[in-house]
Amino acid sequence: STIPKIVILGAGYGGILTAQRLQKELNYNEADVTLVNRHDYHYFTTHLHMPAAGTDSIEHTRVPISKLIDEFKIDLVKSNVQEIRLSDKKVVLQDGTLSYDYLIIALGGEPESFGIPGLSEYAMTIRSINSVRLIRQHIEYQFALFKADESRTDRLNFVVGGAGFSGIEFVAELADRIPYLCKEYDVDPNMVNVYNVEAAPSALPGFDPELVEYAMDVLVKKGVQFKIGVAIKECTPDGVLLATGEEIKSATVVWTGGIRGNRLIEAAGFETARGRVKIDDFLRAPGHDHVFIIGDNSLMFNPEGRPYPPTAQIAMQQGVTCAQNVVASIRGKELKKFVFSNKGTVASLGKGEAVATAFGKKYKGWVAAQLKKMVDIRYLFTIGGIPLVLKKGRFL
Ligand code: FAD
Ligand code: NAD
Repeated sequence: STIPKIVILGAGYGGILTAQRLQKELNYNEADVTLVNRHDYHYFTTHLHMPAAGTDSIEHTRVPISKLIDEFKIDLVKSNVQEIRLSDKKVVLQDGTLSYDYLIIALGGEPESFGIPGLSEYAMTIRSINSVRLIRQHIEYQFALFKADESRTDRLNFVVGGAGFSGIEFVAELADRIPYLCKEYDVDPNMVNVYNVEAAPSALPGFDPELVEYAMDVLVKKGVQFKIGVAIKECTPDGVLLATGEEIKSATVVWTGGIRGNRLIEAAGFETARGRVKIDDFLRAPGHDHVFIIGDNSLMFNPEGRPYPPTAQIAMQQGVTCAQNVVASIRGKELKKFVFSNKGTVASLGKGEAVATAFGKKYKGWVAAQLKKMVDIRYLFTIGGIPLVLKKGRFL
C-alpha cells in the first residue's frame, strides 16, 4: 500500500507519549503505526529505585502496554531490536524485519561504565524491571548468607557508586529498607554499612547547594556513609577500589555513575557523543529527515548552550512534539520546533522526605515528598487516566 509506515522503537516515556499522540492525531488509514518493545509492559524508570531496594513492588512500577494504547490503531510488537539499517530503511528484530517510512528511536539509554575495570562484571545497575529484581534479591540474599557464615561481615556492606539523582534516590530507599531486613534476618543494624561514593566534589553535582546539604543530612541520619570527591577506580569480586587507594569490601555494588546512549544508535552509524545524537530543532537526526530520536538517546542544548540532562520530563515532551512533527511531515505541513518547558526537579530521599526545585522555589521535607507523589500521579493520569491512577498510584 501507499500508506506511510511509522515505526516507534521503545515504549518508555518518549515512545509511549509518541504512540498515544499519534493515535490521537492520525486520521483513519492515514498511516500504519507499529510500536516495538522488548517487553509487553511499560515500566516507570523514574520509580525503579524503590523496587530495587525492596521498598515498593514491581507491580507499582509497570503496566501492560495494551492498557495504554488502542491496538486497533497501533500494532504492538514484542521483540528485541537488534539493528537499525538506515540505508534501506529497515529495522532488524530478533524475529523478523520491519520497514519504515518514518522511524522514531526511543530506546532509552544504557549505563555508562567509563571503561572502569570490573564494573560490567561485578556491579549491578538500575535500568529495567529485570535489573532491579536482581538487585532486590541479591541484597536480601546477602543477609541470609551472612546468617549462614557470620565471619563474612563484608556481606553487610553495600556500595552505591555515584551520588547523582539515581544514586541518591536509591541509597535513600536502601537506608529505609535496612532496618526491616535487619529485623527479618536477626542482624545487628550496627553491622550494616551503606556507602555512597561520588567522584565529584559534591553529591548531586549542579543542584542547589542548600538542598544538597539538606539531602545529605537526611541520608546521614538514615545511616548512609558518604565518600565525596572520591572516584571508584575498579570493581572486583571483593568490592571496590577507590582512587585514594582505599578498598571497600562488599558483595554488593550498585552502579549509578551515569548513562549513555543505546549501543544500537552508534552501530547504526549516527555521529554520537557518549552514544547520543545531537538532533535538530524538530527532533530529527541530522541528514535523516525521516528519523526522529527522542529521550535519553538524543542530545539537545538549552539557549545557553548547555546540554539538557536526559530526563523522563524531556522525553515525554519530546514524544508529543515528535508525534506532531511526524503527522505534519506526512501531511506536507510545516514542522514545529521543540521547546523544553522545565517543570522543575524533585528528588526523593526515602519515606516522607524529598528535595525539589519548582516554580522558581525550593522545597524540602514533607512538602517536597508530596510534590514527588503529585508528579508520579500526574504521569499516571497523562498516560492512563483515572483508572491507572487508582491502580498504580501511591497516596500514602
Ligand atoms: P526509557 O524510558 O528508558 O524507555 C526505553 C524503552 O525501550 C524501554 O521500555 C526498554 O524496554 C525499551 N528497549 C530498550 N532497548 C530495546 C531493544 N533493543 N529492543 C526493544 N526494546 C528496547 N527523570 C525525571 O524526569 N524525573 C525523575 O524523577 C527521574 N527519576 C529517575 C529515577 C531513576 C532510578 C532512574 C534510573 C532514572 C530517572 N529519571 C528521571 C530519568 C528517566 O527515567 C529517563 O530519562 C527516561 O526513562 C528516558 O526515557 P526514554 O523514553 O528515553 O527511555
Ligand atoms: P548522573 O550522570 O546524573 O550522575 C552520575 C554520578 O556519578 C555523577 O555525580 C558522577 O560524578 C558520579 N560518578 C561518575 N563516575 C564515578 C566514579 N568513577 N566514582 C564515583 N562517582 C562517579 O546519572 P544518574 O544519577 O543515573 O541520572 C541520569 C539522568 O537521569 C540525569 O539526567 C538525571 O537528572 C536523571 N534523573 C533524574 C531524577 C529526578 O529528577 N528525580 C532521578 C534520577 C535520574
